[in-house]
Parts: sequence; C-alpha cells; structure tokens
Amino acid sequence: MNIVLLGAPGAGKGTQGEFISEYLSIPTISTGNIIREALKSGTELGLKAKSYINSGELVPDEIVIEIIKERLADGDCKNGFILDGFPRTIEQAVALGEMGIIIDKVLDFDVSDNVIMKRMSGRRVCSSCGSSYHMENNKPKEAGLCDKCKGTLIQREDDQPETVKKRLMVYREKTKPLEEYYRKTGKLAIINGNNTVGETKKLTIKALEA
Ligand code: AMP
Repeated sequence: MNIVLLGAPGAGKGTQGEFISEYLSIPTISTGNIIREALKSGTELGLKAKSYINSGELVPDEIVIEIIKERLADGDCKNGFILDGFPRTIEQAVALGEMGIIIDKVLDFDVSDNVIMKRMSGRRVCSSCGSSYHMENNKPKEAGLCDKCKGTLIQREDDQPETVKKRLMVYREKTKPLEEYYRKTGKLAIINGNNTVGETKKLTIKALEA
C-alpha cells in the first residue's frame, strides 16, 4: 500500500508514520529527516536546504522531488511506502503522479493550532534515527534517550515558537490545498489528531482498513 500522510507540522505524522510502518511492514520516508540528515553531514543538499529549513520555509520543489525520486527507486519501497512530509505542494503531488506512483490512501491528520503549539514545545527527536517523542504525551523509557537506538533526544531548531508559527502559515498557504486535490481522487481520509497518540492510532487503523 502506498500512503501519503498529510497534516500541519506537529499533527502527529511522524509518530503515526512509525506506527503504520511497523503495522504494515513498509518503510516511512520522511523528506524532513532526509534533509536534516544531509544538513548534519554537511552534504551539498544540506547546504542548499539549510536556510529554508531553519527559517520554516519550504525547500524548493525541484530539490525535494529529486530526493523522493531517488528514494522511491530503492528496493525496500517495492511493496509499498509511507510518505511523511511529501508532497507539500500541488507541484510535488503532480510530480509524484508523473513518476507513475499510484497513491492508495491519504491520511490527513486534523489538529487545532493550540494543540500544535503545545505539542511542538514538548517535542524531542532522536539525533540519531529521527524517532519522535514528547516530554508529556509520549515519553521515552529512559529520559533523554531514544527507545529504539539509545541516541540522544534533542529539540529541533525549527520547533522554536516563532519558527513554528511561520511553518503553520506556510502549511496553510502551500500544503492545505492538497486536501482538495486528494479529496477529488476519493483517497482522502480525515483523522482527528487532537487526542492521545493511542486514540489517534485507533482512528488510523480504522482509516487504513476502510
Ligand atoms: P518536517 O520534518 O516534515 O516537518 O520538515 C522540516 C522542514 O524540511 C520543512 O519545514 C521544510 O523546510 C523541509 N521539507 C520537508 N519536506 C519538504 C517538502 N516536501 N517540500 C519542501 N520542504 C520540505
């Protein structure tokens, strides 16, 4: 199954993506994680993306489209995949179609701005594997350490309140129109993501099995 996760930053795409990945045994592809990895290792892609990601802007379409094209050609995607954070513009969605990719389900996590601001301030991510946690709602077993790989948990630079506000604005302007785009394909399922991780998981399974 090929799945797209939609929703504002902090809507829970990363957390639910990790869960769906285990549930269906297919990989999650997060363009944000790929870009952050490139930034960390100082590659050309990282250098090109740095100013956009740190200011809460979108990285230009041609760069992310190329990233996705390369990643989807990997063998582990042949039985399906979950796209977390791609597409983020209509142009990116069109490019996906032009690559011959058929999307089976689009799960759109709907969360209010208040909840998002609260979540982002408590969010911590693993500096090694990118898994996400929350200081109150989704704590790691050992404080400050990733459950999966024992990597150190850090706060993302773009999770600062001012950058989050900017990212929400960019989301509304550039990404929100994808709801209408995918609604027309009949593949869109809107999931209430305002509640706990467990409650959202249940709704996610329901949407996957519908
Ligand atoms: P995320 O981890 O998905 O919240 O992404 C973090 C940042 O990476 C975004 O704010 C953008 O700067 C960049 N980014 C990730 N995915 C995309 C995309 N599909 N298109 C453009 N920029 C992206």
